[in-house]
Amino acid sequence: TDPDWVFLESDLTPMALERFPVMQVLNTGKPVLHLMLSVRRPDGADLWVEANALPRLDDDGHIVEIAVTFIDVTVREARTRSLEQLNAQLAGMSITDHLTGLANRRGVFAAADEARSGAMRYAQELAFLLVDLDHFKTVNDRFGHARGDEVLCEAASAIRAAVGAGDAVGRIGGEEFLIVLPATSPSGAYEVAQRVRAAVLDVGSQVGVTASVGIAMFSPPETVDECVSRADIAMYQAKAAGRNTVHVHSPSLAEKV
Ligand code: GH3
Ligand code: MG
Ligand code: MG
Repeated sequence: TDPDWVFLESDLTPMALERFPVMQVLNTGKPVLHLMLSVRRPDGADLWVEANALPRLDDDGHIVEIAVTFIDVTVREARTRSLEQLNAQLAGMSITDHLTGLANRRGVFAAADEARSGAMRYAQELAFLLVDLDHFKTVNDRFGHARGDEVLCEAASAIRAAVGAGDAVGRIGGEEFLIVLPATSPSGAYEVAQRVRAAVLDVGSQVGVTASVGIAMFSPPETVDECVSRADIAMYQAKAAGRNTVHVHSPSLAEKV
């Protein structure tokens, strides 16, 4: 109760008197173990403290005395907290494409797996769009690799902006993107694909870049890889049809071939 020592909860809100270790023991008769609190010392230093409080009872079960220990765990806590931050940062980096800020291959395929599970569980439609930028090598050749990188980033932002917040977009290769559209019908997927194509045309026309888009509707129980391969086939058909085009993969057609 010394006003020069300020006790705070681990979330740094003020600690109510009944939360003090000794008060908890008095009120419950039970030990308090590993209570984490923050203490501001009279000299202004903030400490992380682990408190333990143990009652000693007489034969009638009455509290005779309470032993309270305070352990300064400031160094241990600081280390734990910075490790947790670092872990979260690393987890984010491992699924992010450093150039465009979109998800990377691992990130977008994880989203695709999740979407596939959801589609199977709730019998919902699911579409995959594979986007490959057209004539991209020409940009590097004519304007240099650095400009190529800029155009890639612009195209990535344009693609991201062309799809919904609940849709996943990732860069899965040099100038290739995968888009996951959960709960989306064939006509909805076609609409999004056209929007993506138009968005890339908008940012890329100055440097001669367009996009070819392949669509495949998820057909259970196929795998994500199988469906994405079909979107890839459709994308190449869009290239063959003259680029800056959307093409839909038709499973029945593929079976006939
Ligand atoms: P198309 O797809 O229309 O057939 O032609 P393309 O020129 O886009 O096709 P290709 O797949 O042959 O070439 C892709 C080029 O994209 C190769 C490489 O120069 C370029 N590229 C891939 N990744 C990057 C990158 O991260 N940065 C830059 N600047 N260029 C990249
Ligand atoms: Mg290309
Ligand atoms: Mg390519």
